[in-house]
Amino acid sequence: MSVSRADNNGRILSTLAEVYADSRAALEYDSVYQLLVAVMLSAQTNDNQVNKITRELFVDYGTPQQMATLSVAELEQKIKTCGLYKNKAKNIVAATRILLDEYDGEVPRTREELVRLPGVGRKTANVVLSVGFDLPALAVDTHIFRVAHRLGFSEGKTPDAVEADLCALIPEEDWARAHHWFIWHGRRVCDARRPKCDDCPVNEWCPKLL
Ligand code: SF4
Repeated sequence: MSVSRADNNGRILSTLAEVYADSRAALEYDSVYQLLVAVMLSAQTNDNQVNKITRELFVDYGTPQQMATLSVAELEQKIKTCGLYKNKAKNIVAATRILLDEYDGEVPRTREELVRLPGVGRKTANVVLSVGFDLPALAVDTHIFRVAHRLGFSEGKTPDAVEADLCALIPEEDWARAHHWFIWHGRRVCDARRPKCDDCPVNEWCPKLL
């Protein structure tokens, strides 16, 4: 009996859901504002490095009101071990000012409002919506982009195109969780340079191997 591509996709998704059922965001945060800042810091910086920075930073500057007491130069000094820190400091200070001036210090709950904040693109907004607010959104980072291509879920050339393909394939109620399945699969198994295909829980259905 032949197995359709749709059947394979279903098996891959249900296996990833099972294997990565307990997966969570690697970034540490105690509020949606802290999550927003951590995601802004994470561009071109790994999550462990971001956590090292925010563990200290958030002790005294973990709320918009506290962050707003820092100048850009002062924040630069506190985050200078992460890549692009000058730009990130400028954007975090500017975004925090907007949150205080226009949103009473709260992080807005729509993508349209989030992407208006300096330094916040669609991916960051989607992480805040899905991880922070548990709203249906599927952020596509470099791991998800790669894994989606290898598994044959998308041939999209941009993260937005891959996001659209994944959202069409996966039920809306699973979008937020699927973000974690793909990230952890990309980190632990489907590595960019050395995918561990022999040990991969979905190798039976992966078109990369078929
Ligand atoms: S079989 Fe290999 S290429 Fe396919 S998802 Fe698994 S690790 Fe990635």
